[in-house]
Amino acid sequence: MATQRLPRIETILEKVKGYNPTSDERLLQKAYLFSAMAHEGQMRHSGEPYLIHPVAVMDILAELKADDIALVAGLLHDVVEDNHTIGLKDIESRFGMEVAHIVDGLTKIEEKLPEGEVREWATLRKLVLAMVDDIRVILVKLADRLHNLRTLDAMPSHKRPAKAMETLEIYAPIAYRLGLGKLKAELEDLAFRHAYPEDYARLSQALVDKRTYSDSFLEETRQQLQSILGEFGVEGGEVRGRLKHLYSIFLKLKRQSISIEQVYDYLAFRILVPDVRDCYAVLGGIHALWKPIPGRFKDWIALPKENHYRSLHTSVVGLNGQPFEIQIRTWQMHDEAENGLAAHWRYKEGRLTKEDEDATVMWLRHLVEMRQTAMTAGDFVENLRVDLSPKEVYVFTPKGKILNFPRGATPIDFAYAVHTQVGHTCTGAKINGKLVPLKTPLKSGDRIEVLTNPNAKPSRDWLDAAVTSRALNKIRAWLNQQEKIRAIEIGKTSLDRECKRLKVSLKEAQESGLLAEVLKKVALPDADTLLATIGYGKLTARRVAKMLAPNQEEETATPESGGVSKGTPIVVRGASDLLTTLARCCKPIRGDEIVGFISRGKGLIIHRADCSNMKRLSYNPDRIMEVTWDDASQVGSLAHDVAVTLHTEDRQGMVAAITKVVADHKAGIRQMEAGITGTGEGLVRMTIAVRDRAHLALILTQLGKIHGITTILRDAG
Ligand code: MN
Repeated sequence: MATQRLPRIETILEKVKGYNPTSDERLLQKAYLFSAMAHEGQMRHSGEPYLIHPVAVMDILAELKADDIALVAGLLHDVVEDNHTIGLKDIESRFGMEVAHIVDGLTKIEEKLPEGEVREWATLRKLVLAMVDDIRVILVKLADRLHNLRTLDAMPSHKRPAKAMETLEIYAPIAYRLGLGKLKAELEDLAFRHAYPEDYARLSQALVDKRTYSDSFLEETRQQLQSILGEFGVEGGEVRGRLKHLYSIFLKLKRQSISIEQVYDYLAFRILVPDVRDCYAVLGGIHALWKPIPGRFKDWIALPKENHYRSLHTSVVGLNGQPFEIQIRTWQMHDEAENGLAAHWRYKEGRLTKEDEDATVMWLRHLVEMRQTAMTAGDFVENLRVDLSPKEVYVFTPKGKILNFPRGATPIDFAYAVHTQVGHTCTGAKINGKLVPLKTPLKSGDRIEVLTNPNAKPSRDWLDAAVTSRALNKIRAWLNQQEKIRAIEIGKTSLDRECKRLKVSLKEAQESGLLAEVLKKVALPDADTLLATIGYGKLTARRVAKMLAPNQEEETATPESGGVSKGTPIVVRGASDLLTTLARCCKPIRGDEIVGFISRGKGLIIHRADCSNMKRLSYNPDRIMEVTWDDASQVGSLAHDVAVTLHTEDRQGMVAAITKVVADHKAGIRQMEAGITGTGEGLVRMTIAVRDRAHLALILTQLGKIHGITTILRDAG
């Protein structure tokens, strides 16, 4: 793998001529000689002449089909750093501004740094920011890093893990972002060996053990795939079998927490064809021959990845039940996947234009943003690392400002990040100009626009859609506030009514200071809190009214009467502490679909969603509240009374049969009437106590099985 021999400059020049006939050979020769002169007498850690390194970097760049500027920069990238008699000015006068800019970006920061700054981080920041102006900066850096990793064994062993980790965290992800698939895979495998030496050794040994089997399997399968190409008349196609790269297998082991023995799809094939149509034809042929593994087919041709990757992927169960992966793509897609944007760069002088690759442009814009905000090199590198890790997404405001969110965040999180009021009043969102539901997860590079309406309000189910603590806190605070406003309203009407009954004037009580005394007695800070406390059902309006009318008879222990029952055993979600009552008209029971109606003086009345009264009440949507049964409370007790009417044949023992069913199911009978109608039909009316809707349904089903019962109705109210 690692060639320690000095690659011959002539060989490289020939390679360059092969992909770029207009290459300026004299310029490249001149750079080679200049580099040789500048590094004269210098040695690498391995003891070899230093010149090996820049020439090897140039060779890697030639593999990536880089242009002359990048090749020259590759040859000269260490010149200024290693030879203090040569300055950037010299490079610029001999090779031009562009080369000098790239070399500058690749040169370590030497000057004194502010307190607390780390030289490596400051250098990395300089490099990444230079890349924004000329993408070739990073191309040369990646080639440089690749050669350094290939020869890392020559480095002192204590320095290797740090270089390897930095490669895995920063450089390999950058290569991936830029679509440099082949480079990324090699960087990862080399870094893997030094970052996790034990895992590397175990994994490569395991694959060596499977080698004999793999080789024959790969060859047999390759021939079968080749014959599919023949069947479909695909000319100029090629089938390549390979072991997947080690680091990708390692990540898979970690992700799925399985052992090496359980890894089966370490074998993969690539089919390269001339035409997009061939891709789909060959795919059809493969699926006809071998069983595809469900969920593994990916059409990255119709929907390219963010980094512009295009290919068809499928996994099948092949010979001997051996599963393996197949990638199908055209030669052009392959070139782009292996060499990324490098293919385009050579014609664009290192600059990516808007038309090039949106995701890349977006990302570079993000880096520009990072340059503009004053942050330390450490913060910059940390941001870069987070940015390159898949746990975060970066999105843009309509004005191009960048905001980052945890993965899974939605436009709701975005809206609250912009401004609390924007969050409270958002009604929808546009992602990249397209209208989307508020619960759509954000992706890196998305441009988000939030639609608002001043009359819109947060909804309780946003709590399920938002992930940032900021959004969740703001939504909760708003909902609590609304609940309090409602509780005050409910408390006020209740208290007014009680005061009227006892002929107490709330206004006078306030003016005389009596109210203040009562507040002190119940230990509440102000009148609003008192009203809310009544609304929440923690204090009864009657008791407060009586305290405000001290001349009246003393409070007795008689239960509260009137419309408001003394608390209810039913707790509903969405109303937390609000005083709730079950509507008498439709008598909802646990499990029924329900809605809440804010009734003056009675608190929140819970109706069945299909209650006919409710339909009449719904003209006033402001007083309707979404509620659900609270699963945590009162489950299992016979909390619900339900009225049921049964029509029966007039038959002996009917009532006994009915009561037996109710008793058998451990429900209670609260009340029962049986009679005969004018038409000679039996009629039974009863109120039974049940646990919930399911319990009721079971009882009604069993009642229906009693011989002679014609109809059963749950009273709708
Ligand atoms: Mn170097």
